[in-house]
Amino acid sequence: MNDSEEQPQRSDFIRDIVTEDLASGKHETPVTRFPPEPNGYLHIGHAKAICLSFGIAEEHAATGARCHLRFDDTNPSKEESEYVESIQEDVRWLGFDWGDHLHFSSDYFESLYNWAIHLIGEGLAYVDDLDAETMRELRGNLTEPGKDSPHRGRGIEENLDLFARMRAGEFADGERVLRAKIDMAHANMNLRDPVLYRIQHRAHHRTGDAWCIYPSYDFTHGQSDAIEGVTHSLCTLEFEHHRPLYEWFLSHLPVPCKPRQIEFAKLQLSYTLLSKRRLGQMVDEGLVDGWDDPRMATLSGLRRRGYTPTAIRNLCATVGVTKFNSVTDIALLEHALREDLNKTSPRRMAVLDPIKLTITNWPGGGHRETMNAVNNPGDPEAGKRDIDLDGCVYIERDDFMEDPPKKYYRLSPGGEVRLRYSYCVTCEEVIKDSAGVVVELKCRYDPDTLGKNPEGRKVRGAIHWVPAADAIDAEVRLYERTFTVENPAAEDDWRTVINPGALQVLSGVKLEPALADAASGERFQFERNGYFCVDSKDSAPGKPVFNRTVALRDSWAKKTKG
Ligand code: ATP
Ligand code: MG
Repeated sequence: MNDSEEQPQRSDFIRDIVTEDLASGKHETPVTRFPPEPNGYLHIGHAKAICLSFGIAEEHAATGARCHLRFDDTNPSKEESEYVESIQEDVRWLGFDWGDHLHFSSDYFESLYNWAIHLIGEGLAYVDDLDAETMRELRGNLTEPGKDSPHRGRGIEENLDLFARMRAGEFADGERVLRAKIDMAHANMNLRDPVLYRIQHRAHHRTGDAWCIYPSYDFTHGQSDAIEGVTHSLCTLEFEHHRPLYEWFLSHLPVPCKPRQIEFAKLQLSYTLLSKRRLGQMVDEGLVDGWDDPRMATLSGLRRRGYTPTAIRNLCATVGVTKFNSVTDIALLEHALREDLNKTSPRRMAVLDPIKLTITNWPGGGHRETMNAVNNPGDPEAGKRDIDLDGCVYIERDDFMEDPPKKYYRLSPGGEVRLRYSYCVTCEEVIKDSAGVVVELKCRYDPDTLGKNPEGRKVRGAIHWVPAADAIDAEVRLYERTFTVENPAAEDDWRTVINPGALQVLSGVKLEPALADAASGERFQFERNGYFCVDSKDSAPGKPVFNRTVALRDSWAKKTKG
C-alpha cells in the first residue's frame, strides 16, 4: 500500500511572526497551545486550530518547540470527562502529540485566585452586588458609555473581605461578582469593568466541591498561557476585541512571561454546521445517533465515516491561515479525501443492489475457477486476491438495462460485457417476478475471453461482480451531505434544512469474500461505487456494516446542476 502523502505546509502571517521572533532572538523556543473547552466533541473547524498550533511546534521541533493541550475547564456546569477523553483521542488521531503537556485551566485556580487578590490589593478589582440585568444596563452599548456601579468605590479591605467570603460560600449564585476596575466608558466594551469571578455552587469535573467561585474565560486564558510559558497564543478572530483585556491582565499581574495573542479566521465549510452548541443539539434532540454519527462534522464522526487524518490535515494546509473570514467549499475537503483514499485504499468488489446472473453454459459438477483480481494502481500487490467463479454471480442492478440507449456499454439483452478480471458474458434471457422486476439474468460465457477480447468483437464494458456462493452479506450506509443548503447556520432554524436523504441504509449488499475479515475502521475502494470503511460501532463478525466515506465522483454537484 502506498503511504498517504502530506501536503507541504506553506507559510502564513502567523508562521512568519514565529520565524521572525526566533530570528530576532525574542524567543528561542516557540510554545503554542490548543485550548478546547470540554463541552462537546471537536469538529473539523477545531482541526484547523490544531493543525496550526501543533503544526508550528512540529515545524520548529529542532528548537525544542512544543504545543500544549490545555482544557479550558472554567465552567463547571457544562464540562464532562467524556469530552476530555474524546478530545485527546481526536488530537492524537490527527497525528499530534502534546508530550507531557496536558494541562487544565482548573489546575491554575489557586494562582488565579491569588492574582485576583493582587488586583484587589492594587485597587484594580472590586466586588459588585448588582444583579446581572442591572449590570448589563449600566454597561452601555457601542454608542453610549457605561455608568459606574454604585459599588465601584468600595475600599480594598472591604473588597478583600467580600471576595474571601465569596470563596467561602457565604453567598448564593449570582449574588456577587468580582470585576476588574478599568473604564466604564471605554470604547471597547470588553474593558468596561469585565467580570473576573462568578459564584456557582456546582461541582467541577476535576476540582469537585473545592470551589464555588469560578474565573471567567478572560481572566483565565492569558494567565494560563503565561503560567505555561506560551509564546504565541493563537485563537480565532472573535477574540480580537478581547486582546486588549488579555494584555491588560498580563501587564497588571506579576506573571512569569507575556505571551502574544494572534487571531486568525475560523474554518467555515459549506453544507456544514460547525458549532459545538448546535452539534450538541443534534445529539440531544436525537437528530443523529451521537457525536460520532458519520453525518456529523465532528472529528469522531468523520473518522467513523472513513475520513483520514491526512485528508483533513491537507485540507487545512490548502486553506491556509489568514485574517479574512471565508467559506471553504466542502468539495475541497472531499477532493483532499479522494486524493488520499485513492492512494491508500485497496480495491474490492461489492454489489450494492444485486441481481443474480447465472451462466447457463458453465461446466457442471461444482466446477470452480480462480480469477486473479489485481486492481490497485497504487500498489498491485495490495490489490491481489483470488476470487472463485462458479457460474453464478451477483451484479449491480444498475449495470443492466433492458432497453438501453446507444453507447450503453454495460449489460442488456443480447449484449456482451466483461465480468471484471474474468470472462465476457452475453445476456440471453431476462427473468422477472410477477411485478415485472428483474430477478435473474441468464447469460452465456465465452471460455475464450479470459484476459483477452473475443475474436472479432470488442467488448467495451467491464462490470464488477461477486460470486454468489461465497458472497458475504453486509449492510451499507450511504451518506450524502448532511444539509441541503450551503449555509445552514444562516437559516432561522437549521433543523429545517437537514437533508432527509443524508443517510440511506442498504441491506442485502453482497461483498467479495476477501472482505470477510475486514477490520473495524478498515478502508476500501469498492470498485465503481466509491470509498467505504468498516463501521467501528455496529459491525459484528460475519455481519459487517460499511459506511460510504465518499463517492468516487461528485454526484451531488451533478444532481443539483441537472
Ligand atoms: P464552537 O464555536 O464550535 O463551540 P469554540 O471556539 O467555542 O467552538 P473551543 O473549545 O473554545 O470551541 O475552541 C478551541 C479552539 O478552537 C479555540 O482556540 C477556537 O478559536 C478554535 N476553533 C473553534 N472553532 C474553530 C473553527 N471553525 N476554525 C478554526 N478554529 C476554531
Ligand atoms: Mg467556546
